[in-house]
Amino acid sequence: MKKPAETIPERVDLLVAGGVLLTMSDAMETFADAAIGISGGEILFAGSMRDYPELPEAAERIDASGKIILPGFINTHCHAAMTCFRGLADDLPLMEWLHNHIFPVEAKYVNRDMVYRGTLLAAAEMILSGTTTMADGYFHESSACRAAIEAGIRTVPAQGFIDFTPPGDEAVRNHIAVAEKFLGKWRDRSPLVTPALFPHTAYTCHKRTLKAVKAVARAEGALCFVHLAETAEENRVVRDATGLSPVRYAESLGILDPRTVAVHAVWLEPDEVRILADTGAAVSHSPESNMKLACGIAPIPELLAAGVRVGIGTDGAASNNDLDMVGEMNACAKIFKAARMDPTVMDAASVLRMATIGGARALGIGDRIGSIEPGKRADIVTIDCRKPKMTPLYNPYSQIVYSAGGADVSDSIIEGKVVMKNRRVLTLDLEKTMEDVEKIAAAVRKDLEERCVCRHG
Ligand SMILES: [Zn+2]
Repeated sequence: MKKPAETIPERVDLLVAGGVLLTMSDAMETFADAAIGISGGEILFAGSMRDYPELPEAAERIDASGKIILPGFINTHCHAAMTCFRGLADDLPLMEWLHNHIFPVEAKYVNRDMVYRGTLLAAAEMILSGTTTMADGYFHESSACRAAIEAGIRTVPAQGFIDFTPPGDEAVRNHIAVAEKFLGKWRDRSPLVTPALFPHTAYTCHKRTLKAVKAVARAEGALCFVHLAETAEENRVVRDATGLSPVRYAESLGILDPRTVAVHAVWLEPDEVRILADTGAAVSHSPESNMKLACGIAPIPELLAAGVRVGIGTDGAASNNDLDMVGEMNACAKIFKAARMDPTVMDAASVLRMATIGGARALGIGDRIGSIEPGKRADIVTIDCRKPKMTPLYNPYSQIVYSAGGADVSDSIIEGKVVMKNRRVLTLDLEKTMEDVEKIAAAVRKDLEERCVCRHG
């Protein structure tokens, strides 16, 4: 995988040297005493220092000795701005949580400013825990794009669509116009942004909306996300309304294809794993949100065995309640072992693949990111192993999935730019970012207290 020594340039923008490199390439190559050269946001070479007689001069250098170097994590499903509602309502069933708590505060507080500030906070949290790409689905996504670019994090922003009443012709035309405008605005605008669309679910979007939004995505070659088969209740509601399970309903509408990401895919009948595989749809798995909302356990081993592309996502901070992909991997590696009484399912290396190259492929950008190989964009993180909890180091995959936490991520490079060095985020003022969301939360809190007083006299 490394380039021959004679092709190594004399100068690079950035050199990452030392440490153990996990490339996450298909061959799962690893290198000790790593050396990675980056220029113009691209990985030029990656291997072991021992193989390069002379390293190039570098404008900037990261010393990774004592650290593990790996591709940044790819969060394949979140609602970034929902950091504003973190901890607002917990320990409730999905439908009650959504309809009685989340939808009412969203109706009042979601606006451009809230999405911008909430997404900045999410970006800060994600950078600090090693995520370099987020697939975000929410409203006012142009504001989310601005925040992501400012933070320097790669994003697949998906403009959300929802119907609170069955949409007439004009509402459908409006959805189409919003979708086209969003994709048109962000296509080719920034190397960090790959715009997408997100009809919320089969029970909150009318079939006309689902079909229309997917048609725009298909015409533009954009990715389309949809929450699908998240709870038994959803399956019952969709079946009552349409006579079909959510997956069969989505299939009947023609919205499953290789540019669709089915989010959650928990309640699948055995032959529906085959439907997802045959249509080429990808799946985003959010074990912590599924556990917290008591949704159930998705058949991820079966989906992987059927050849479905599966990535890991945190879901929103209101249902998780953090955006830490290291914690998410830990949950993912353990939940199937406990449920199936089988310690061999979902081994650490497979889970780390899902959180990196697997996620990149689920999002259709596996040719650009997800592994550390020459020619790919440089999205790289390091994890500090010079800590009691990370000592000794026998198996770096196990160490990351079972021993590490998000706070052990030390450095982060996105699109060749260092956005965090020795845990200092270089792109954002963290204090201000937190303060701004605290101000939004203060208004929400006051509102909730008043509602509570009204209800109880
Ligand atoms: Zn979600």
